[in-house]
Amino acid sequence: MTGAVPLRPHFRSNSALEQMRRELVLAFHILNREGQGNEVAGHVTARLPGAQTFWTNRFRLGFDEANLADLQEVDFDINVKTGGEVNQALLFHAAIYEARPDVNAVVHTHPRNAVALASLGQPLLPLDQQAAIFFENIANYNDHEGVVLGKDEAREISKALGNCRGLLMTNHGVVVTGKSVREATVGAIVLEIACEIQLKAMSAGKPVQLSAESANHAKAFLSQDEHIDMRFEYWSRRVLAENPHVAMDIA
Ligand SMILES: [Zn+2]
Repeated sequence: MTGAVPLRPHFRSNSALEQMRRELVLAFHILNREGQGNEVAGHVTARLPGAQTFWTNRFRLGFDEANLADLQEVDFDINVKTGGEVNQALLFHAAIYEARPDVNAVVHTHPRNAVALASLGQPLLPLDQQAAIFFENIANYNDHEGVVLGKDEAREISKALGNCRGLLMTNHGVVVTGKSVREATVGAIVLEIACEIQLKAMSAGKPVQLSAESANHAKAFLSQDEHIDMRFEYWSRRVLAENPHVAMDIA
């Protein structure tokens, strides 16, 4: 039977802020489903274009517990405008938003394959077409000072990211940015899979890389909004089908 599955899941709102908040809740659950929830560690944030505040989940909640009522609005000094509490490690999200007007969402997670590859100090290679979205678009950050992130390290992380879409943080995790929640979420999933492929290929031999021309071609195609929407909406359908309480929360 065709047409049985509504391709656009029902989480759309007329308000840009409410739409963004719903997509942020979905991003937490999608990333958790993809294995990037790490107990209460990691963060996903989003803002409306040009805003001097951003939104995230309440401190002490895991990705799988994200919900609309527990989203918090935070300013760039990590003051919580909505009255709850958030992780002070969000300082580097603020530093990225200040430096990058084009960035409206930031994912920071500790996925195992990316952490393993980053610990080797290796750059991400364009080994498959999916990874090509990070071709000449990802940096390595090797100066992690420990789990407590102060303003100085926040600025260093933002500087290391530069104009890139992603950052491999040695002995820590990843940062993936996007102009939207959708783009950052898709990027974070693609990056972890790309790291897994690279580790497997490197352990088996000397992998062949995509040519610069092929990588740039794949990058342009896979970075289109239509393509990103299609993938985000697929993962959203999966999350909503498997978690009726999330579907009720953002309906
Ligand atoms: Zn971290």
